[in-house]
Amino acid sequence: MKVYSFPRGGIYFEDSTVPAKDSSVIAFLPGLSVIPLVQHTGSRAYPIVSVGDYVKEGMLIGRGQGFGSTNIHATVPGKVIRMVSRKTTDGQISDALVIRLEGAFEKLGKPEEVFSWQGLSPFELQRLISEYGIVEMEGTGYPVSDMLSGLHSAREPLTLVVRCVFDDPWLAADYVLCRERLKAVVEGSVILARAGRIGRIVFAVSRSEQALGTSLLAEAESWDVSSSLILVGSRYPQRNRRELELVLRLYEKREEIPLGSLLILGPATLAAVHDAVKLKKPILDRYVAVGGAAVKNPQVMKVRIGTRIGEIFAECGGFVDKPKRIASGSPILGRAVADLDEPIIKTSYAVFAIPESRLGGTFARRCIGCGECRSVCPVGLDPEELFKIAQIRRNRETLATLAAECHGCGCCEVVCPSRLPLSTTIADAALRGN
Ligand code: SF4
Ligand code: SF4
Repeated sequence: MKVYSFPRGGIYFEDSTVPAKDSSVIAFLPGLSVIPLVQHTGSRAYPIVSVGDYVKEGMLIGRGQGFGSTNIHATVPGKVIRMVSRKTTDGQISDALVIRLEGAFEKLGKPEEVFSWQGLSPFELQRLISEYGIVEMEGTGYPVSDMLSGLHSAREPLTLVVRCVFDDPWLAADYVLCRERLKAVVEGSVILARAGRIGRIVFAVSRSEQALGTSLLAEAESWDVSSSLILVGSRYPQRNRRELELVLRLYEKREEIPLGSLLILGPATLAAVHDAVKLKKPILDRYVAVGGAAVKNPQVMKVRIGTRIGEIFAECGGFVDKPKRIASGSPILGRAVADLDEPIIKTSYAVFAIPESRLGGTFARRCIGCGECRSVCPVGLDPEELFKIAQIRRNRETLATLAAECHGCGCCEVVCPSRLPLSTTIADAALRGN
């Protein structure tokens, strides 16, 4: 089977400190849950419970307010004991409700009630996806119902791309979820296709996981929907939208299958769509890869939203070495965690801790002109040149044009032997507009 890869740049990313991808373990329920009212791209959800109120598992506690905002639900039963301001694992500061675990669970440990969705209209499916606060869990937390609204005016064919691209070992949680919840991922894809009036589903799977791709396709064939499988390369950043679109357009041309507009979503999001529509369940937990050289027993865990990061590390046996850097996401694009009380939110797919001995020197030295950054840039930019322009803040127009082409993959920064903060500086300059 042909493997499609983006034409230039990129890196092979390996890390021996990620957890094994064989299975997940269920994390303990948190005694105190911290539920931020922002777990999405838009404005804060409006709290509809107060301190002192009792809440049930899965109960609506914050109502989304407009585009980009979504509903927030309690993930455990209990009493709201305070409202705090908290940093979340995606770096935002948000008001958060602290819930002390009390009382009986509505869903946990009970037989799941299954609802038939086949008779529902696209509008009704979208309403359920909105009601249960489903966001893109592998990205920025963009609400899926807003994505669907954006499709209504599309005139060309639409394709749902199920992104199972593991170009980064820290996507271990997505991989385990795909294997453990394969049927839910596929049915969630079919539901989403119906909700968005999407005619085709393409499973984009890393070449190294061909068996997984074959299983996804076989499962999809039991549904009345056009589906196909494309194998893609394992070089990072193959899963980025730009690089994935590049290979999908090559596939479209070669196979003569008109794909039209692409809606790209990952397996965690699609399993959540399945749960919202078929089980009438909001996102109560998520798969998280917990590891790093400072952690005793790295593992993929199924963690309740609102669990504090410190508790997760403790459940992995704690630290074998004093962590110098604790972060959420991938080591390439991750964000530093300042406080172990930060909670896991809908978009937290990995947390890791690195001891000082593994960090090496962190101070920036001078460019030695090795050209490594240019050779790995998938766009063909000159990151060192961009970095210089961004630093001296001249040639604003040139910088704005070039920085707009940079999609922040971070490859240049990873390979720079002088440890210059290349992509970080370029991204900051692009944000500032100078
Ligand atoms: S972060 Fe930007 S400049 Fe650096 S390699 Fe990626 S696309 Fe190129
Ligand atoms: S990789 Fe770093 S040292 Fe090498 S040319 Fe680029 S900026 Fe300079």
